[in-house]
Amino acid sequence: MKTDLIIIGGGPGGYETAAYAARQGLQVTIIEEKNVGGTCLNCGCIPTKALVHDAEEAMGKSDGKALFEAAIERKDRIITNLRQGVEALMHQPGIRLVRGHGTFKNSHCVVVGEENFEAEHIIIATGSTSKLPPIDGLGGNGQPISPFVVTSEELLARKELPNKICIIGAGVIGLEMASVFSTFGSKVTVVEFLNECLPTMDAEIARRLRRSMEKKSIKFHLGSAVQSIDNNKVIFKDVKKDLVADIEADVILVATGRKPCVENLNIENIGVGSGPKGILTNENMQTNLPHIYAIGDVNGRQMLAHAATFQGYRAVNHILGKTDNIRLDIMPAAVFTHPEVASVGPTESVCKANDVPFTTQKAIYRANGRAQAIEQTDGLVKLIFDENDRIIACHALGADAASIVQEISALMNFDVTRSQLSNIIHIHPTLSEIILDASR
Ligand SMILES: Cc1cc2nc3c(=O)[nH]c(=O)nc-3n(C[C@H](O)[C@H](O)[C@H](O)COP(=O)(O)OP(=O)(O)OC[C@H]3O[C@@H](n4cnc5c(N)ncnc54)[C@H](O)[C@@H]3O)c2cc1C
Repeated sequence: MKTDLIIIGGGPGGYETAAYAARQGLQVTIIEEKNVGGTCLNCGCIPTKALVHDAEEAMGKSDGKALFEAAIERKDRIITNLRQGVEALMHQPGIRLVRGHGTFKNSHCVVVGEENFEAEHIIIATGSTSKLPPIDGLGGNGQPISPFVVTSEELLARKELPNKICIIGAGVIGLEMASVFSTFGSKVTVVEFLNECLPTMDAEIARRLRRSMEKKSIKFHLGSAVQSIDNNKVIFKDVKKDLVADIEADVILVATGRKPCVENLNIENIGVGSGPKGILTNENMQTNLPHIYAIGDVNGRQMLAHAATFQGYRAVNHILGKTDNIRLDIMPAAVFTHPEVASVGPTESVCKANDVPFTTQKAIYRANGRAQAIEQTDGLVKLIFDENDRIIACHALGADAASIVQEISALMNFDVTRSQLSNIIHIHPTLSEIILDASR
C-alpha cells in the first residue's frame, strides 16, 4: 500500500502532524503500537496535570488517601475521553490508522506485522521512555530491578497513595511528582546528584522553588549520589560530607531522564544517523536521508509535547515546499509544581556563558493586588532584555506562571521591546500586571 506520508508513532508529535498533513491534502498512514495520544496523553502531561489539579483541591484536607483514589479514577476518565477524541481524529478522511509495531524494511517502506507500507516521505515520531541509570537494584550490573522501583508511567498507574515515596532525580518529572504526592499526604524525599534542582531553569527560581517545597515538608538530599537500591532502601552518598545514608520507602520513583525510542526501528540498517540524544535532524527536522524526518522526543531537541507538534508542522511544511514562520527557537516550558515554574528563552547563566549582553528586571508577586487577593504571594517574574532592549527571556515562579510566560512568549515572537511592553494595557487586577511591573 502506497501513501504520501507514513508517520511512525501516534503521540502529540505523530497524531497532530497526521491531522495537519491530511488538512493540507496529503494521504497519511499513521502507525501506533500502543494507545494513540502517546506518552503525553496516556502517561505524561495529561494524567500528571489532572493529579496536580486534584492535589490542589485536597490541600490541607485529612482524607488524602480517599481523595487520591478518587483523583486516580477521574484521571483515568479524562484519559479515556481524550483518547476517544484522538481516535476520532485519526479516522478522518486522508488518515489511515494502523495498529502495530512499525519497522523500516527499506528507506521508503515500513513493515507492520505482515503488511508493507510505502510512502514518498516518512516521519519518525516514536517518542521516548524512562531511562534507568546503571546502578545495583535498577537492573545495572546484571542485578534484578527492586520490586519497589517504579518509573513515572508505573507510578501514575498505581491506585493507592504510598505512605512514603523516595524520588531519585529533581528534574521536572521528579519535582511534579514530589509536589503532587506530598500534597495528597505521602512523605516525600528527593535525592539529587546535582547541588540544586531543575538545573536548566533559572538558578534563583530553582532555589526558591526548592525552599518552598521544603516548607511543605518535602525533604531534599542534594549533591547525593545513589549507590544502590536494596529492596525498599535507597542507599546514597552525600558527596560533600562524604557520608553514606539510606532511606526506606514504599515506592521508589526513578526520574533520572528519558531516552529516545530508536530501538527496533531498523534505522541503523537504512542509514539514518543518530546520537546519544536521539535521531539527528536539521532545522526542518530532516534526517540525513532527506525524505525521512524525525520529530518530538525521538530527536532529543526539547522533550515537550508542544515542541513535538510544532516540529511536525515544520516537517510537513517542508515536505510541501512551504516556508512557515514557526519560531522553534522560542519554546516556552512549565513545571506544574506548587508553586508553578515556567520559562522561555535563555537563563542569565546561559547568556553569560555565551557572552550575550543582557539586562534583567524583576518583579515580585507580593506587590501585586491580585496575588494578595487570592493569597498566592509567593513568586517572582524575571525578564531578560538584549542590548537593543528586545525581550529575550522570561522566567517565572508563582501562581499561573505558565500563563505569564506564555504572554511573553507571544511578544517574543514579534520581537517586542521593553518600552513597547510597558505600553500594553493589562486588565486590573490580574497576575499578568506583574509583567508590567517587571518591564518598568
Ligand atoms: C510524567 C510526564 C509528564 C510530562 N508532562 C509534560 C507537560 O506537562 N508538558 C509537556 O509539554 N510535556 C510533558 N511531558 C513530555 C511529553 O509527554 C513528551 O514530550 C511528548 O509526549 C512527546 O511526544 P512524541 O509524539 O514525540 O512522543 P510520545 O508521546 O512518546 O509518543 C510516541 C508514540 O510512538 C509509539 N511508538 C514508539 N515506537 C513505535 C513503533 N516502532 N511503531 C509504532 N508505534 C511506536 C509509542 O507507543 C507512543 O505512543 C511529560 C512526560 C512525562 C513522562
